[in-house]
Amino acid sequence: MKISEIFGSMVFNDDVMRERLPKEVYKSLTKTIATGKTIDASVADVVANAMKDWAIEKGATHYTHWFQPLTGVTAEKHDSFISPVGNCKVVMEFSGKELIKGESDASSFPSGGLRATFEARGYTAWDPASYAFVKDGTLYIPTAFCSYTGEALDTKTPLLRSMDAISEQGLRLIRFFGDTATKRLTTTVGAEQEYFIIDKELYNKRKDLIYSGRTLFGAPAPKGQQLEDHYFGPLKSRISAFMSDLDVALWTLGINSKTKHNEAAPSQHELAPIYATTNMAVDQNLLIMEYMKKTAEKHGLVCLLHEKPYAGVNGSGKHNNWSLTTDGGKNLLDPGKTPAENAKFLIILAAILKAVDDYQDLMRISVAFAGNDHRLGGNEAPPAIVSVFLGEELDMIIDSIVNGDEYESKKAGIMDLGIPSIPTFRKDTTDRNRTSPFAFTGNKFEFRMLGSAQNIAMPNIVLNTAVAESFRQFADVLEDAEDFDEALTKLLRETFAAHRRIIFDGNGYSEEWEKEAKERGLLNLRTSVDAYKCFDLEKNIELFERHGVMSRVEVASRKDILFENYSKIINIEALTMIEMASRDILPAVSRYIGDMAAAANAKQTLISGVSCLVETETVKKLSTLSEKTYRKIDELRRINDKAIKAGDYNKVAEICCNKVLPVMEELRALVDEMETLTASEYWPLPSYGDMMFRI
Ligand code: ADP
Ligand code: MG
Repeated sequence: MKISEIFGSMVFNDDVMRERLPKEVYKSLTKTIATGKTIDASVADVVANAMKDWAIEKGATHYTHWFQPLTGVTAEKHDSFISPVGNCKVVMEFSGKELIKGESDASSFPSGGLRATFEARGYTAWDPASYAFVKDGTLYIPTAFCSYTGEALDTKTPLLRSMDAISEQGLRLIRFFGDTATKRLTTTVGAEQEYFIIDKELYNKRKDLIYSGRTLFGAPAPKGQQLEDHYFGPLKSRISAFMSDLDVALWTLGINSKTKHNEAAPSQHELAPIYATTNMAVDQNLLIMEYMKKTAEKHGLVCLLHEKPYAGVNGSGKHNNWSLTTDGGKNLLDPGKTPAENAKFLIILAAILKAVDDYQDLMRISVAFAGNDHRLGGNEAPPAIVSVFLGEELDMIIDSIVNGDEYESKKAGIMDLGIPSIPTFRKDTTDRNRTSPFAFTGNKFEFRMLGSAQNIAMPNIVLNTAVAESFRQFADVLEDAEDFDEALTKLLRETFAAHRRIIFDGNGYSEEWEKEAKERGLLNLRTSVDAYKCFDLEKNIELFERHGVMSRVEVASRKDILFENYSKIINIEALTMIEMASRDILPAVSRYIGDMAAAANAKQTLISGVSCLVETETVKKLSTLSEKTYRKIDELRRINDKAIKAGDYNKVAEICCNKVLPVMEELRALVDEMETLTASEYWPLPSYGDMMFRI
């Protein structure tokens, strides 16, 4: 198999378009893609036909509009290309209209009240900027998903709008630095994906994994990750075979799967692709997650994408590497070598700091999910407090700008503007602060709070829009300036002074940071529920509306869906625990107690007065614990019922977070203790040790 031949072979990419489309049509389509404009109907017909012919050659019989509803996963509905001719013949057809727009009964997708059920129709609209592809005999057409009144019912539409916003405002800003050639700015994203692998047979024995994606019970194994022998360790052969298959599947779809390695926790791994334009990176990450699951199945394995499958070892996240590039391919987060490039870099840096500081709440919301709450703030992932890591060199430059002193460095000079210039620094002088939620890594920022299971659209929507807003404000100031150099220097000084509080280079896991962050006035939104409440603050609605990214109702609907989704997840987890504890665990413990008691009796009959300490102590301890468990199950049932009946989902979520979760924890503690006292052959669930080490 030649990798270079299979790579992208199932993608209707630029090469294929150039080869298969008439010159004029190709030109018109690429222009549409580059400028983000809508496509001409006549062009669409030609493209559709070429796409269909190509797809049929690749074995496709169907096509589907592929979209990202607010469930967080993808949705598809397959239609075949067949079209009847007369009574007993068909031809394969696909029109421009079918390519551009699809109708979909949207009533079963969450809309947060956006679309009353009597207006159940939604439509999908082709996103020409994401390539179509063939998989499983179907042509997949990436689309946006909207209601008939035009509200976005998906994650892609606001993402595309946010990409337009940052481009529009960014172009205004870079014009001041003499860049007149650039016509469009794009954000690029590389999302590193963490995941766990478990043997399928063991997985099938755990209702908690099946229903909720994480273990709700489980005493720790004697070995966890304390030896740190798994990180970057050699790959086990089953894992290696799985990864190779996965790579091939992804390469076929044109996804640059580049790096794979073992992660910190036992049976945890990571895949990193090469970065792509944001909308493509989002599509690709969704496909990566889908293929991880599918490919694992083929190998008798299951891929766990949950943020915290196992207590006591690291959970999984995603690192969203983010940068901003001109259509000429220049990365604007590269500090650059000339004074003008330096100044441009500094103003962009200032804009990003301001954006993250002004919209800490939105950054936090964009990664807030029931699953991710087990990580953020735990001693492994970045804390729930949003802060920025820049590295010593940039910190010193910012200090000197704020204080107005000269920046003392052998490598640095002073620019005309009176702004210290940035020496070209090596990438490795930045980063390697693993505890920072948002770290500068030389020519990009790495947003590290994302959960492993989430769609990466929202964090990028927030970043793009918040930075667009900083750009807008800066461009307004500079446009009105009489003396540009003076205005720029003042703007930098003021912005850095005002937003320096968001910079933090120390240990984000420490308690001192929590205290210090509070003194600095930074937000600490501990739980998803705390975070969601801030979503529709007036300043946030204003931000999204001003840049045409989301309307007030679109924000409201997303907030509702977040609360609803959170509530449902906790409810399912509580019910799963109740089911497992009462129907599997208590009966098993009872059986063991019975057998121990019988053994003690038998021993006494055989040798009167013989020691039965082990049996009696075990029976005593387990009897006490199982009684407590029994009562705790009742308590959990009651509080979960109360939550469900609370009415609005924001109220349900509040009870779930503050009342249901703590009782779940208490129930778990009782059951986990029983596990350590019960003989393994009686315990109805595979142990932590089995699940993490037996692959
Ligand atoms: P690091 O050593 O900082 O982890 P890597 O080179 O390993 O950096 O890249 C990590 C991820 O960041 C990869 O997915 C990579 O494609 C992505 N990345 C690199 N440059 C950029 C960029 N300009 N924009 C977005 N992502 C990028
Ligand atoms: Mg990295």
